[in-house]
Amino acid sequence: MAGSTREHADDPHASLGGACPRVGRTVTEYDAVVVGSGPNGLAAAVTLARAGLAVHVVEGAPTPGGGCRTEEITLPGFHHDVCSAAHPLLALSPFFADPAFDGLRSRLVHPDVPFAHPLDGGGAVAAHRSLDATVDALGPDGPAYRRLIGPLADHAAALADGVLAPVRRVPRHPAIMARFGRTGVRSLDGLVRRFEGEAAPALLAGAAAHAVRPLSAPLTAGFALVLTAAAHAVGWPVLAGGSAAVTEALVAELERLGGTLETGRWVQAVDELPRSTAVVLDVAPAALPGLVGDRLPPGYGRRLARFRSGPGVCKVDWALSGPVPWTAEVCRSGGTLHLGGTRAEVAAAEAAVGAGRHPERPFCIVVQPGVADPTRAPDGARTLWAYCHVPYGSDRDMADAVEAQVERFAPGFGDLVLARRTVTAARLGDTNPNEAGGDIGGGANTLAQTLFRPVPAWNPYRTPVDGVYLCSSSTPPGGGVHGMCGVHAARTVLHDRFGGPPPV
Ligand SMILES: Cc1cc2nc3c(=O)[nH]c(=O)nc-3n(C[C@H](O)[C@H](O)[C@H](O)COP(=O)(O)OP(=O)(O)OC[C@H]3O[C@@H](n4cnc5c(N)ncnc54)[C@H](O)[C@@H]3O)c2cc1C
Repeated sequence: MAGSTREHADDPHASLGGACPRVGRTVTEYDAVVVGSGPNGLAAAVTLARAGLAVHVVEGAPTPGGGCRTEEITLPGFHHDVCSAAHPLLALSPFFADPAFDGLRSRLVHPDVPFAHPLDGGGAVAAHRSLDATVDALGPDGPAYRRLIGPLADHAAALADGVLAPVRRVPRHPAIMARFGRTGVRSLDGLVRRFEGEAAPALLAGAAAHAVRPLSAPLTAGFALVLTAAAHAVGWPVLAGGSAAVTEALVAELERLGGTLETGRWVQAVDELPRSTAVVLDVAPAALPGLVGDRLPPGYGRRLARFRSGPGVCKVDWALSGPVPWTAEVCRSGGTLHLGGTRAEVAAAEAAVGAGRHPERPFCIVVQPGVADPTRAPDGARTLWAYCHVPYGSDRDMADAVEAQVERFAPGFGDLVLARRTVTAARLGDTNPNEAGGDIGGGANTLAQTLFRPVPAWNPYRTPVDGVYLCSSSTPPGGGVHGMCGVHAARTVLHDRFGGPPPV
């Protein structure tokens, strides 16, 4: 597709056509302006710039990246992922498979064990890269686990193509999507009835809990299946140097294509943006009415108001003097740890959060990047990253409760702590309005809202406001660092405004 060419009588760069002027030069018009530089905003910008469009990204925070940032937030020399840390979805994403991101993918470093789940008494269950090793460790439940996960792991690229696509698209791989759909639509509780022991249900419950839903809820099985299949197929890598590498790669690609980025400018209204044919918003649905004002039809506004946020997270980061002394050996090489004990205990914690309560022993997701990336901390020292689920907007500091869960499975952990930093759910939105209330998934992952977000619509990236589109994780396929919300939104823009093919 050719980029747009327009005549601007008063524009000294009128002859630039599809090429994009650099920041700092006088600019009167772009083909597209993207508000927000999270992975979806930048993926949208890159997709539009690849089509030859003049694209400008406006970010409110002083640095780009949204959920992909790495900072020294505890002590000098300790580099923490402020938000995303483990990247199975990036490894699966068709967008990041492009050769332009070869350099980024070469920075994906793999823990020996993608994720592990310690149990009381010193044992643990783990998703190894090797399906065989995982099956062997599950004993009598191994064959049932292989039958459930094996075919999905074998066809992980096809599975990712399906689950990261807009729901309206006819599946390109119907057999694998039918297999996934049959079980994925169920609850985790229903899914694990096939197992006799405690280990496999605990392992899958930890993965399912990434949905931040009660484990009795539909689709929690789907989260478990995708994330566990990913562990065997592509791993749960971390980024060498931190997840800011994702942002660096996206910004570099955008700039290579002639796109531009401006930081430190919070957009209050789309009318204050430079003139453009399309505006693509990497924002939460709640921000849209304010940004477009009375141009939003009341009917759409009412539907948008029905959008439900998910629960929140309380985030904790530590600077440690050494590696965490997990009792279970397999946890020492796990990139991600799921702390919460048995399936029943994880289910109880998630049910409490779903009912608006703080669990006494919260389910915690912990990432120890140092098992694969020694650059995060000075020699011998480590960083540790964790969050636990809490009710939306909670201002309760859960650091002691999270630390107690770590100590439960790694006695002596407290002796290693050099520094600790907590951000409550209530404060997460202070630096990124998309994370208001601590909701890190762009909205509740109910069945309806996972398939249709932010409102039920044939193409949810379009808004009824002429030329304004949404691309954040509050559109399909939802939360996580995969960039596909941005890609699908950009394809809609290209079709609607620049003569591109119908978006699929
Ligand atoms: C604590 C935490 C842990 C996570 N862990 C993982 C993980 O391990 N793996 C994973 O895959 N995902 C993880 N996620 C989720 C992942 O980070 C998000 O799903 C992803 O970043 C969403 O991308 P996005 O582009 O939609 O929005 P965001 O990344 O939130 O980016 C939105 C951007 O838009 C900007 N913005 C918003 N409004 C305006 C405005 N009005 N004007 C200007 N700029 C604006 C914001 O400042 C922000 O930079 C985590 C998230 C959090 C918070």
